Amino acid sequence: MMKWVIRGLLAVGVIAVLGTVSSYLFVDRELNRMYGAFVEVAEPELEAEAAETYALVNVSVLAPEADRFIPDQSVIVEDGLIRSVGAGEVPQGIRAIDGEGMYLVPGFTDSHVHLWESANDLLLYIANGVTQVREMNGQPNNLAWKREIEAGRVGPEIFVVAPQFATFVGFQGVMVGWTQRKTIVRNRKEIEQAVADFQAAGYDAVKSSSYLSRENYDQLSEVAAEAGMPLVGHIPMATDLDAVWRGSASEIAHIEELVKQLDKEFGGYGPDQAEAFLEFVRERSDDVAAHLVQEGIMVTSTMSLVDSFHRQKSHLKDVLQAAELEYENPGIAEGTVITSRGMGWLPEVNIYRWPEGMDARRQARSLVYWKAYAEAQHILFEAMLEHGVDILAGTDANVPVMVPGFSFHDELEAINEAGMSPAEVLASATVTPAAFMGSNTGEISAGRKANMVLLRENPLEDISATRAIEMVTLGSNVFDREDLDAMLQSVADANDESRKVALAAD
Ligand SMILES: [Zn+2]
Repeated sequence: MMKWVIRGLLAVGVIAVLGTVSSYLFVDRELNRMYGAFVEVAEPELEAEAAETYALVNVSVLAPEADRFIPDQSVIVEDGLIRSVGAGEVPQGIRAIDGEGMYLVPGFTDSHVHLWESANDLLLYIANGVTQVREMNGQPNNLAWKREIEAGRVGPEIFVVAPQFATFVGFQGVMVGWTQRKTIVRNRKEIEQAVADFQAAGYDAVKSSSYLSRENYDQLSEVAAEAGMPLVGHIPMATDLDAVWRGSASEIAHIEELVKQLDKEFGGYGPDQAEAFLEFVRERSDDVAAHLVQEGIMVTSTMSLVDSFHRQKSHLKDVLQAAELEYENPGIAEGTVITSRGMGWLPEVNIYRWPEGMDARRQARSLVYWKAYAEAQHILFEAMLEHGVDILAGTDANVPVMVPGFSFHDELEAINEAGMSPAEVLASATVTPAAFMGSNTGEISAGRKANMVLLRENPLEDISATRAIEMVTLGSNVFDREDLDAMLQSVADANDESRKVALAAD
């Protein structure tokens, strides 16, 4: 009798273990699918061949100050570097590309992206003239891509920020670390260990998330400064602006972070206090901007994302239709059933949609709230421009509905409309981020890496000209329009192969 009981218990135990292991494997696979690990990798056939030397001639070149074009220039490139820029003749025998009537600008930097696991994004950036990105929640595969790109793979230079730090204990910590790929810490010792590990692995900076405790934020700020790692990212909800001013952060990941802090100072606004909150933001914005300048903290814009929140609630179908959905990582667009923290875009899974069955009155109130939220970032942005805060143009690509590469041009238009001159917009997309990331790009001058974009129209006259891309150079490689189109087509095809949910026809 006893023997049967023991056998029975053993069988139950084995089934429980098998069940746990197989559900772990299922969930892990589903997460990888969501992040794009199984998306077919696009392999476009490109005409470009690396050239030791080449020159762009008769072209207008953006001055290093990004405020004017210098006409009739010749830019000579040798071994991937700009050798000279000037009005002189080009030596015979090197390939000369005629840039007559066109405008040469440095390759763009998107200072806030999430690459996750589909390498197709790398091609989308190049095809859109984005030759550098700052990955804001980097993973080991992103570090591997960075090295492959340095060794010649087609893709943007990547500044890789380590997985963002968050304070969680016990089982919740395990789940958040696993499903959201964050760095979970509880105390100074764990923070020191993680920062040292990330530095050794080759990450370029560390990031605070919204979920870091007050104490852990101060500790991360100290530990990062001691290690010489830049601290970037969110302002944790548990802390306040004073902690940021006395800490070591060199960048804030969104203007929105400042909106959230002011909301907390205000006491939390609702639709009925929207006007009063905006008045409070107007009163506080000068002081906030002055502190940012004083502490040398740059701010990344992600303005079109925050502007889109209320439209994603009220007009999602229109917003999706306007986005270049065929290029978006299908795993991310489709979301996942296994975690409410998926990043879904489509109507059934969109993370910003209203809950099912919300009545018209509550929808109207929600719109008042989210419109005020967007307005608050505009008020802060205007104060920052007045005070001369350094702005980095960034999109938060892969968050709905920011399609990698394409959304960057939307962002440039958004910050232009919000008050930046085209020259300031171009600086925030080129020379300012290059300085932040310590990269040898961002301006067209001798000795810089030849990452450049040839435009058919003048972006200082109309910023939307950044979309009129004729050619992109990446060091020794010259990608003409045909190559750029081949990249885009190959990504659309590969994504289509990998789609579970068909895109709505227009
Ligand atoms: Zn982000």
